[in-house]
Amino acid sequence: MTGVVIITGGSRGIGAATAELLAGQGWSPCVSYRDRADAAEEVVARCQAIGAKASAMRADVSVEDDVLRLFRAAEDELGPVRALVNNAGIVAPRSRVADFTAERLDRMFGVNVLGPLLCAREAVRRLSTASGGPGGSIVNVSSRASELGGSGEYVDYAASKAAVDTFTVGLAKEVAQEGIRVNAVRPGLIDTEIHASGGQPDRIERVKAVVPMGRAGQPLEIAEAIAWLLSDRASYVTGALLDVGGGR
Ligand code: NAP
Repeated sequence: MTGVVIITGGSRGIGAATAELLAGQGWSPCVSYRDRADAAEEVVARCQAIGAKASAMRADVSVEDDVLRLFRAAEDELGPVRALVNNAGIVAPRSRVADFTAERLDRMFGVNVLGPLLCAREAVRRLSTASGGPGGSIVNVSSRASELGGSGEYVDYAASKAAVDTFTVGLAKEVAQEGIRVNAVRPGLIDTEIHASGGQPDRIERVKAVVPMGRAGQPLEIAEAIAWLLSDRASYVTGALLDVGGGR
């Protein structure tokens, strides 16, 4: 199976690596972004340079209207959607639970939980064979934090990813007989800008010692797992939570 794949947060990091890998495997990526139009257009250009159709669109996944526009734009510009990579996600500055604000929690759960659920809803509406769709595949990008807990750093982020795990398992069972597979990848410590965005630019140096492999992973190492789960090579895999964390 190939076709149009929507990759949320495809302008940088894991999403960008996934877009480029999938473009090379015959997919047509539609990448969404929140602010960095320049980065998103560079990803599109790299996909097109290897012969793929690709497009980019600004869409905040926590805003329902943006999600609706994203799916319509992908269809208008590239064709029928066959797959979704729910990748966009955020962290917040290091904080103990006692210091959390309601505003922080609202944003965290809006982007990391509401967003993927809204995108999954739009994908299922289009893909389900029960409503005449062609079937397809959804991969959610969770985190090893969902089991590790994020204590003293970001318990809210970890809890948001636990919600992603649960919705992966539940949705997978719900649509298992409607031609849609739903899986999650749970990355460990990956070398992207997300750590600096949470005010911890030195996080990889600080944390890598507790990774059994002794190093951070690269975005492409996560993209490879996503691409496999998305593909027909994983045709009997659904409801799986695949840890890609160097042993952590
Ligand atoms: P990143 O380098 O910070 O990139 C984040 C991407 O998400 C960017 O494309 C960004 O767009 C987009 N984005 C952020 N908020 C958005 C929103 N509200 N709506 C739409 N797009 C939004 O992050 P990353 O490290 O690649 O992380 C990707 C996913 O992997 C996340 O779900 C993250 O939780 C998960 N993960 C990462 C790690 C890690 O160590 N890096 C570990 C475990 C799990 P702009 O470019 O416009 O800002």
